[in-house]
Amino acid sequence: MSANLDWGSLGFGYIKTPYRYVSNFKDGKWDDGCLTEDDKIVMSECAGVLQYAQTVFEGLKAYTTVDGRIVTFRPDLNAERMFESAERLEMPPFPKERFLEAVDKVVAANKDYVPPYGSGATLYLRPYMFGSSEVIGVKPAKDYQFRLFATPVGPYFKGGAKPITIRVSDYDRAAPKGTGHIKAGLNYAMSLHAIVDAHENGFDENMYLDPATRTYVEETGGANFIFVTKDKKIVTPKSDSILPSITRRSLCCVAEKYLGLTVEHRPVKFSEIKDFAECGLCGTAAVISPVGKIYDHGKEICLPAGMDKMGEVTKQLYDTLTGIQMGRLEAPEGWIREIK
Ligand SMILES: *Cc1c(COP(=O)(O)O)cnc(C)c1O
Repeated sequence: MSANLDWGSLGFGYIKTPYRYVSNFKDGKWDDGCLTEDDKIVMSECAGVLQYAQTVFEGLKAYTTVDGRIVTFRPDLNAERMFESAERLEMPPFPKERFLEAVDKVVAANKDYVPPYGSGATLYLRPYMFGSSEVIGVKPAKDYQFRLFATPVGPYFKGGAKPITIRVSDYDRAAPKGTGHIKAGLNYAMSLHAIVDAHENGFDENMYLDPATRTYVEETGGANFIFVTKDKKIVTPKSDSILPSITRRSLCCVAEKYLGLTVEHRPVKFSEIKDFAECGLCGTAAVISPVGKIYDHGKEICLPAGMDKMGEVTKQLYDTLTGIQMGRLEAPEGWIREIK
C-alpha cells in the first residue's frame, strides 16, 4: 500500500523512510551488510569523517514508470563513480555488484514510498560511505561504513521549468589535480559560502571557471553545463576537475542517438558563451535546469532562449531523457534497472 503522502507538495528535503542498508568495513573486509530500521549512527568522537572529512556519496532516483514498474536509472554508473571516488580518498571501494544489491534492497523494502507515475515526485537514494574509526594523526581511517537511505522528493520544478540566472563566481570549486572530479562532501563544504553569497545577491547558482586561468567554463556547485550552439550542436565542457555527471553523459547520448545532433565534449572558453543559443544545468535532481542569464561582474549575457521557458533543443533533450526514464520511450540497452 502506498504511503499516505501528498506527493505533489513534497519539496527536496529529508523524510525518514522505514529501511536503509548498512555494511561495515572492519579487519580489512566488508561484512555481509543488511537492511535496518535504525536511522542513527553511533561512532567515535574522533572518527575519520568528523576530523578530516573522509566521506564520499552518490545520488540517484527510483520511480514508477508509465506501465507501473519500479525502476532506477543507470545505477551501475553510480556504483562505478562511487568506487572511483573512494579510491581517490584512500577508502576501501564498495564492490559495484553489492552497491546495486543495496539499491535494489532499499527500494524494494521502501516500495510504499516510491511515488506514483505522473506525480512528478521520485524516491531519492543516497548511498554514502565514511571513515568511522579514530583518526587524529593525518591518515586514512581503518574502519568504514557504507549506508544507503531513501527519501521521497517532490517535483524539482513546480509549475514548469523556469530559466534561472547564474553568476560567474570569484571563488573556486576545485583545484587543478584536486578532487573536483569525485563526489566528495568536501567539495560541497567549500562551496557553501559561495552559494549562500550568490543567493543573497539574487542569483540562483554559481558558474565556476577553471581555477588556473579563469578562462574556461567548469560547472556549478552540483550540476554540469550543457550548451546548444545557434546551429544546434551540443557542446559540453571538458576538464579534469569537472564531476562526470551521469545525466550529462546520458543527455549527450540522447542528443546523438535519438535527436541526431552533433555533440562536442571539449574545453569551452567563457568568451564563447555569448555566441551560444541555449544553456542548461544537468544533474539527477532536475535533469536539466535552463539558464536564461549569466551575470559576469557587471555585464550580463542573455541567452537567446530567454527567461520565459526552456530553449527548443533543451526541451527536446529533457523530454527525450525523461521519456526514457519514465518508460514512455524505449531505453538504450542497460539504462533501466527494474526493481522486483
Ligand atoms: C552529483 C553532481 C553532478 C550531477 O551528476 P549526476 O550524476 O548527473 O547527478 C554534477 N556536479 C557535481 C559537482 C556533482 O556533485
